[in-house]
Amino acid sequence: MTITDALRADFPVLERHVDGAPLVYLDNAATTLKPRAVIDAVTRYYSEVSANIHRGKHILSEEASDAYEAARTRVAAFVGARANEVVFTAGTTMGLNLVADGLDLARDTLAVVSPDAHHSMQLPLRDRCAVAWLPTRPDGDVDLDGYAALLARRPAVVALTHCSNVTGRYAPVAELAAMAHEHGALVVVDAAQSVPHRRIRMADLGADALAFSAHKMLGPTGIGVLVLGPALVDRLRPALVGGGTVDWVDLTGSVPRRSPFRFEAGTPHIAGAYGLLAAVDYLERLGMAEVAAHDALLAGVLAAEVAKRDYLTEVAGAGSTERSAITSVTVRGAGDLTEFARALSDSYGVMCRSGHLCAQPYVDAQAGGQVLRVSAYLYNTADEIRAAFTALDELHPLLETM
Ligand code: PMP
Repeated sequence: MTITDALRADFPVLERHVDGAPLVYLDNAATTLKPRAVIDAVTRYYSEVSANIHRGKHILSEEASDAYEAARTRVAAFVGARANEVVFTAGTTMGLNLVADGLDLARDTLAVVSPDAHHSMQLPLRDRCAVAWLPTRPDGDVDLDGYAALLARRPAVVALTHCSNVTGRYAPVAELAAMAHEHGALVVVDAAQSVPHRRIRMADLGADALAFSAHKMLGPTGIGVLVLGPALVDRLRPALVGGGTVDWVDLTGSVPRRSPFRFEAGTPHIAGAYGLLAAVDYLERLGMAEVAAHDALLAGVLAAEVAKRDYLTEVAGAGSTERSAITSVTVRGAGDLTEFARALSDSYGVMCRSGHLCAQPYVDAQAGGQVLRVSAYLYNTADEIRAAFTALDELHPLLETM
């Protein structure tokens, strides 16, 4: 049995129809659907607990605090980190901003950044220091000689997209991180599209900071994770201070708490932590090896469907690296792909995405500014992907009228 056969019933949104057609949800790189276990965990917090954490000594507060810290411990085990290295954030964007801000980079410092970087990784660095793009070859693979030449300029930071939200391609992060460390650079990894799909271990990747979002791995929106390795956990300056970040305060000073508390100012997304814990439990029950195998299977179906159609051109060459089940294409003859995506949704119940995917410099350079993205997750089937492409075939001749 494939993992999708039994588990589709866990996702209430999959019961929806659009104009009589069953919903085909292929916008998973934007956010994933939530299983009932996650929805129930969030509801349980609000309906049975609802108290604030870490500040009260009453039963409800202690229960909430225990659950919040249990989520942290579970996430730490999930990515091979220590609990004090796991900082809860609002999402990948906040995590990457915390790192760029807290490093206190001098303006003339150099950061090497993946060319397909999401805006949330490139913009905080571009605001604070000089940026050089990680060089790639025409097939999309990293140009290792060009990278070595950049490292010789002693960048302070190498910021890598683990898996591109445009192409689904994995970067060889472990190899690139080892080279960066040899030159004294810190390695920041955007793992928003990798942690949901395969087993990630901090030590294997060689990341000094790793950011991801709960909502792309079955969890709630508004909570994410920043994992700080030994090089940063005591060194990064917290961007926010306030309730919860200090051990002691008087009129002349304060003593900061240890990590992760010194990074978590104010009341956090407690319900989100309940949901994230349930999401990690759900993924662990399936097994990340199963999740990764299904991702690879769907990636193969996507690539095969694109290859069959001469009116579709995939962004970036196949290269030699692995792929996740994400593909972005340009459509021959298409003017506005937004209208195309709307027609797929409204006439066929197929949800996918169009535009620059928050990686505009990359999508502009590779595809002239607009792509159509199809991205799958563990509840999608090969048949759904084929149905989405059949819908594309039907819509394509109508392009002139759109
Ligand atoms: N990085 C990548 C690769 C992403 O795909 C996304 C979400 N599209 C982000 C960062 C930002 O994540 P969030 O919106 O959850 O902060």
